[in-house]
Amino acid sequence: MIYRKSPEELAVMRRGGRILAGALERLGEMIVPGATSNQLDAAFAEILAEAGATASFKGYNGFPAHICASPDDVIVHGFPNDDPLQEGSVISIDLGVLYQGFHTDSAWTFPVGAVGPQVSLLLEVTQAALRAGIAQATEGNRVGDIGAAIEAVVQPSGFELVQEYAGHGVGRSLHEDPWVPNFGPPGKREKLASGMTLAIEPMVNMGSPDAITWADGWTVATADGSISAHFEHTIAVTSEAPLILTTR
Ligand code: MG
Ligand code: MG
Repeated sequence: MIYRKSPEELAVMRRGGRILAGALERLGEMIVPGATSNQLDAAFAEILAEAGATASFKGYNGFPAHICASPDDVIVHGFPNDDPLQEGSVISIDLGVLYQGFHTDSAWTFPVGAVGPQVSLLLEVTQAALRAGIAQATEGNRVGDIGAAIEAVVQPSGFELVQEYAGHGVGRSLHEDPWVPNFGPPGKREKLASGMTLAIEPMVNMGSPDAITWADGWTVATADGSISAHFEHTIAVTSEAPLILTTR
């Protein structure tokens, strides 16, 4: 069941998305060598309390933290901790904001200090894939067009898309229909219509596309230990260009 949002509901999600984007920007400024992801988690909780919002992930199926913090080979769903961030590494920060009954969801992979050229390229390719996917999220297109556009950006890079995890509808529930995979074929799956709100989120590995889950039951990491990147926005399908809800 796909829930299309009214203009009023979209306005609420836009406000929540703005809160999320501001928080993500603030957390990004805190990402320097020696900082810890637990500090980011605490800062996010504080920002949301001031904004009258709450963290979507805290307590979601028992998730223990406000943010997902996924360093280096961790793809998604990492727990924040007290390990100092290391120069040259990366950390993916995934945030969910619940504001006036609606969720928004966005993630960004940040370099910690200076990173190598391959890592920079991985971040650029994954961001470009997200942009390409979003551009296809227009009325009359199909969900498969989003994934096909993402695939078309990543495939020539030699990096690998994670296939086991995908984007999703988002709104009153953090995860709603439809499932938005990061691969094609184009022209398949659900037809996109105005008022649909989707979290589009390519996850790209430098090495093997395969993922493993740690014994904690949450942390998803690359099977071969290679670095992974994750960029995500919540967008609304409109009759014109897609509206990115999770920007300032
Ligand atoms: Mg997310
Ligand atoms: Mg998501």
